Amino acid sequence: MERRDFWKGILGAPAISAAAAQQYEKNIRGLPALTIKDVKVIPTSGGGRYRWVFLKIITSEPGLYGIGSAGNHYQTHAVIAALEKHLKPWLIGKDPNRIEDLWQSAHVRTYWRNGPINNNVLSAMDMALWDIKGKRAGMPVYELLGGKARDAVPCYDHAAGPDRESAVEGVRKSIENGYRFIRVQYGGNYGGGGFIPPGEGSRPEGGYSGPAFDEELYVETIPPLFDYIRSKVGFGPKLCHDVHSHLTGTNAVEFSRRMQPFQMLFIEDVLPPEQIAWYKNIRSVCSTPQAVGEVFSHPYEYLPLVFERLIDFIRCRVSAIGGITAAKKIATLCEICGVKTAFQEGGENDPVNQMASYHVDISSTGFGIQEENGFPPVVHEMMPGTAQIRRGYLYGSEKPGIGVDIQEQLASKYPLGEMKNGGAYGTDRAMDGSVVKP
Ligand code: MG
Repeated sequence: MERRDFWKGILGAPAISAAAAQQYEKNIRGLPALTIKDVKVIPTSGGGRYRWVFLKIITSEPGLYGIGSAGNHYQTHAVIAALEKHLKPWLIGKDPNRIEDLWQSAHVRTYWRNGPINNNVLSAMDMALWDIKGKRAGMPVYELLGGKARDAVPCYDHAAGPDRESAVEGVRKSIENGYRFIRVQYGGNYGGGGFIPPGEGSRPEGGYSGPAFDEELYVETIPPLFDYIRSKVGFGPKLCHDVHSHLTGTNAVEFSRRMQPFQMLFIEDVLPPEQIAWYKNIRSVCSTPQAVGEVFSHPYEYLPLVFERLIDFIRCRVSAIGGITAAKKIATLCEICGVKTAFQEGGENDPVNQMASYHVDISSTGFGIQEENGFPPVVHEMMPGTAQIRRGYLYGSEKPGIGVDIQEQLASKYPLGEMKNGGAYGTDRAMDGSVVKP
């Protein structure tokens, strides 16, 4: 063969057909060909306040299926419709072995891409496909991602209190429970410490009278809280704090600067995603580590921050960015750039997403920390294999695949509950009644 023809053969080769791919699979591995026979959407309240949506991909091999999470607490029914009406008809009949190809083609299938709803859909499909692949291989998914890079996954705990004494108490309790990493919040809501009580202060006539967030008050209140905590528990515990995007420009810079003496593990989302350009200003004045990106869903949001080393931890939620395939790529990018992962979990998340994070966490050098999330006994019953947290570490089930299953009959007993205001995330407001970004 002439050199020219060789390259023509490689570069100009037509895409392999599904039939040829299945023949290849059969020839190489001795496994029967596999197709996606059915797709089921399983919404459930988990026996509580949750709004979980799971996807079950059923294959042509009897008993072989995969589970994925499409969790979206605020747009739940939009995700269900996207799975039922748009993904399902497209996915049935395809080869579940080709995860990367299905991810890429499902990503562009919607024409407009990187939107949160389709990212939830992609994530559910991706996790279910990895679950199938792991089950077929007889291995937990992390083995297929390179094996364990650590023995277990360290998590950070959550402590909070309405005053500084209870915050210290919360930190001490976390330490007693075996945690080295502890997030500390002040007051009941995000932005706690920065709210002027209802009715107080200078209010517009006939206008907003609820709790009013005040940036300068927040910047004045939180650093002394951590000064007090450090004076009581020392610098051993690794502390973090979530601003939840409540600050703007210079106040975010000033807050980061004032937090530097307390040697934080990180401060989280000092700015909303619309204002990521300010991280250059923060880096120029202080070394307080920054964790960013809980509400990111588009690569353009995190890529500049990681490439330019403007942040220290990327906080994306695995089920919001495209599942295990996307998260593993981010973890590898982080490793190359010297940034770390801190995948978001949070109170409304589900056991499948938690395990998807776990498989990436435990197999990635770019891992930094995982947010803890515990579940009540009813969830462990409904979802056998749900991960366990013991003494500050997350342990997976070690079962093949994702490692967690869903008892559908039990899930059907717990339908989604009523969603007040359409399920909307709450809105914080400033003194003049304007919206504060969450
Ligand atoms: Mg957060």
